[in-house]
Amino acid sequence: MSDAPANPGTAPTAPSDFIRDLVAADLAAGRYSQIHTRFPPEPNGYLHIGHAKSICLNFGIARQFGGLCNLRMDDTNPTKEDLEYVESIMADVQWLIGGWADHCLGFKPKGKTPEAQSVNGQTDYHLAPATGGSADVEPFYASDYFVPLYNFAVQLITLGQAYVCDLSPEDTEKYRGTPDRPGTNSPFRDRSVAENLELFARMKAGDFRDGARTLRAKIDMTSPNIWLRDPVIYRIRHAAHHHTGNTWCLYPLYDFAHCLSDYIEGITHSICTLEFEVHRPLYDWILQSLGLARPLPHQFEFARLNLSYTIMSKRKLLALVNEHLVTGWDDPRMPTISGLRRRGVPANALRTFALGIGVTKFNGVTDVAVLEHALREELNQVALRRLAVLRPLKVVLTNLAPGEVLEFEAGNHPTDPDAGTRKLPFSRELWIEQDDFMDVPPPKYFRLRPGGEVRLKYACIIRCDEVVKDAAGQVIELRCTADLDTRSGGPNSAKKVKGTIHWVSAPHAVAAEVRLYDRLFTEAEPEKDGRDFKSVLNPHSLEVVTAKLEASLAQPESGARFQFERLGYFWPDPVASQPGQPVFLRTITMKDAWTKEAGKV
Ligand code: ATP
Ligand code: MG
Repeated sequence: MSDAPANPGTAPTAPSDFIRDLVAADLAAGRYSQIHTRFPPEPNGYLHIGHAKSICLNFGIARQFGGLCNLRMDDTNPTKEDLEYVESIMADVQWLIGGWADHCLGFKPKGKTPEAQSVNGQTDYHLAPATGGSADVEPFYASDYFVPLYNFAVQLITLGQAYVCDLSPEDTEKYRGTPDRPGTNSPFRDRSVAENLELFARMKAGDFRDGARTLRAKIDMTSPNIWLRDPVIYRIRHAAHHHTGNTWCLYPLYDFAHCLSDYIEGITHSICTLEFEVHRPLYDWILQSLGLARPLPHQFEFARLNLSYTIMSKRKLLALVNEHLVTGWDDPRMPTISGLRRRGVPANALRTFALGIGVTKFNGVTDVAVLEHALREELNQVALRRLAVLRPLKVVLTNLAPGEVLEFEAGNHPTDPDAGTRKLPFSRELWIEQDDFMDVPPPKYFRLRPGGEVRLKYACIIRCDEVVKDAAGQVIELRCTADLDTRSGGPNSAKKVKGTIHWVSAPHAVAAEVRLYDRLFTEAEPEKDGRDFKSVLNPHSLEVVTAKLEASLAQPESGARFQFERLGYFWPDPVASQPGQPVFLRTITMKDAWTKEAGKV
């Protein structure tokens, strides 16, 4: 999908934070010759804006320090993962870092898979990522390392550091103890190396059912860190895998696969969110126990992004999709990268947001208004100005002859003369916004009223002479007089009135569906105090109107961003639009209508 607005926006300046400081110090001390990070999503759902923070951090560090960043599918759990998710992740990452592509090479040449080879650290599995076109590249896969990972596990058994355990999942849990009560050794802990090797080979060969046996690291059942109490590192799963098919019925667990995938790929800084801090001793234990050569990767943790009015867990987002509470993962109300993209959020706005919120060790909630601000700033720069009326009310200019058409010139962008101008036809019948007229207006209402005057943007002042109502008392038409002397260049152009409104010429207007999106939840913390987030869905998160647009919007360039003046930022829906029949989506309103609601933010 094109993300090429008229002006690509400004690149955010290089930020500084504790992780970047550590990276800079490692480089200065000569610990690594080149920085290498990775972004490792599990392909069990679509990426959300929290992942965008991690993508911008990992790819951003690689870019800033002249390094590399791998996109790696952390695909060790076949039952939850799917090719659809792999493809969406690839598309989302490419879209998000697209503007940085020349500096951060995150993929590998298609079809080149690291071979299962030696486990003594001599073989370099690192592949030079492709710099070519996106069709030639694919992500890295943890599942590409199943053979070397298996060999590492065999090596750990040979070293007496891992054993096959026959405890059931329930008993394994019981033996583990609790944070304040030490665990108990498994009765299978002292099996001989030979027996362990034989059983592990049979686990791989498919001799046992799911859950019958596991491979466990032999560490310390009394450790205060529960992750060091002989963690399970392999389990049996007779299930097809989206990438390796039916080759395996034995799958490594996250902790075992992750540090070794990092090692295999030559990762230097393995950056993850704070909940993995307690896993770090295990990460280091595995790498050190195998006695691996060359600089080992290190794990660093930062606080995950939480956003107000947003839920951010793939599992819960999946529930919204499955229960048809949204139209899909790319519903423009979803906080997924694909939803934000479909809504018209430019990649640059997301990157600016992700860099602007910084990287810390403190968990907190970021106000969604910060994201919306970044979005408005970006769109204000790139969006072409257009006139559109969402809820039309007819105005008849009685002093213009039927069929008479005038033209007014309007700039496409107030601060960018290069964006050019266009001609707006002006005729006897116009549409204005229903909200811009009030029969009985309150004080300080400066728009149109009976007998009152208002300026039509880019055109002239009109006066409302007569209000036409239907039998039910609804206003259906305003009969007005246009004062053409007040147009730009006219003898009375300096005449001032308090209100200026937008309009379109009725016979020239294009009728189009416009989808008006608002926040998906009515509460800043949808899950506060254990509340079901589905109970606070905003019933007005989508409103569909048939709007009247100026004629130039009939065939919008795909990917173009528009400001419908006074209304907000819009773009043609890349999914629902048909040639000559665009469907516009509101990306964001001009102003935040939520902050004034007491107690909501
Ligand atoms: P979720 O809990 O939403 O399902 P996850 O952490 O299980 O997400 P992964 O696919 O494992 O999702 O995440 C890939 C990477 O993105 C990890 O390094 C993870 O730490 C990071 N990440 C996930 N959520 C966030 C977030 N909210 N803020 C920052 N980074 C995140
Ligand atoms: Mg996860």
